[in-house]
Amino acid sequence: MMELTVELHETVKDNDFFKKVDKLQINYEILFKYGILNEDVPKKISENNFDYLQSKIPFLDGLYRDFIELKEKRIINSGGENAKRISEMIGVGIGLYYSKLLLDVNPNKFEKIPAPISGKYMDFKVKTRQRLYEIETKGRINNSAKNQAIKDVLAKKEDSSSKAIKFGTIVILNKEDDNRDSSFTVCDDWENSEIDDRSSLKDFFEYYKLYFSFIIDSYHYNRIYKKIDNNSLSKNMIDLKKIGYLYKFNNKQYYGRFFDKRLILEKMKEVYITGESRGHLFKKLTEKFGKKKFFLGVNSSLISLINKLDITMMREFKDEYVINNTEKTSLILDEDGIIFVETNDDDDEQIKINFSEETVMNRIDLVSNYIARKKHVCGASCKSKGKEGDSCKIMTYREHCHFHR
Ligand SMILES: [Zn+2]
Repeated sequence: MMELTVELHETVKDNDFFKKVDKLQINYEILFKYGILNEDVPKKISENNFDYLQSKIPFLDGLYRDFIELKEKRIINSGGENAKRISEMIGVGIGLYYSKLLLDVNPNKFEKIPAPISGKYMDFKVKTRQRLYEIETKGRINNSAKNQAIKDVLAKKEDSSSKAIKFGTIVILNKEDDNRDSSFTVCDDWENSEIDDRSSLKDFFEYYKLYFSFIIDSYHYNRIYKKIDNNSLSKNMIDLKKIGYLYKFNNKQYYGRFFDKRLILEKMKEVYITGESRGHLFKKLTEKFGKKKFFLGVNSSLISLINKLDITMMREFKDEYVINNTEKTSLILDEDGIIFVETNDDDDEQIKINFSEETVMNRIDLVSNYIARKKHVCGASCKSKGKEGDSCKIMTYREHCHFHR
């Protein structure tokens, strides 16, 4: 594991509150699990949006892992044109992971702060122990950018009208040829007013909708998003049939979806040649990217609490925190009930069985047809009155149209 020493800036060095966490152990799973909270939640996922459906969850991992290297004391970002985005993602990932440890809070209490009409604002907030905390998380690749980043954080704090306790975290990464240690700095001043720290139902939906966007079928997800946005939450909003896959871990069940690095649109475009056979494309992709598969899921008991709108139990919900790393498989399960598993070379039995090489090959076919803008007829047998058994004529890029998935 990579280790970062927490450096306390002069604005916090005498504050006992910050003395609790002095070192951070970082691995890839933590980076991606927390870094993903930097991503915008889509309002609407279009029906043929393979880019979203196939690539977004493993996208941080699948797209960026090759550009990030964790050494003992250094985090190397060799992302070229993506370097800035990678630094930001890592800044958020490590900043929020630190905040979770410092505040001892379930990550499902983190909220992204929406941009105000005018003025400066912090990135995230969290309500806990009768206090409101606001956090600014920065990631930079140049050591020389550190002082400016600290100034920015302090300036934002001064400008913001909110009465929260505000602190900032700054991660400095390394370029490949930079041999200094990476660093992590915290700066702050202090404000102390008591608040009601209980999350509302809407707060929970706001947090989990990011994960829903990856695992729930687009058409169903768009309806859920609208309901959350209009604050018209109702019971049984999550239809488990629209998620469809299960992963079992420590006698618990997680509903979610499987992904594969070979199905990332951008990766496929790197090797795709118009008109080649799917077998050939499959072989090329496997040679280049290996069999790297993922599962992302949500604890089934949490989903049933969400479906019952049981706010009391949702506030008490806390899954176990597990990080497992073996040579070929890594798993992170967090207190928010989100599990993320990744495996190389079909090393995980459940992934191997439920998301077989044949399934990947079929999906490659669908995505390559999408690249070539070739739709096909859905073909499922209709259940609507008067048309029972007829073959559905709706054109789609997916295996079946949204009525028949
Ligand atoms: Zn259909």
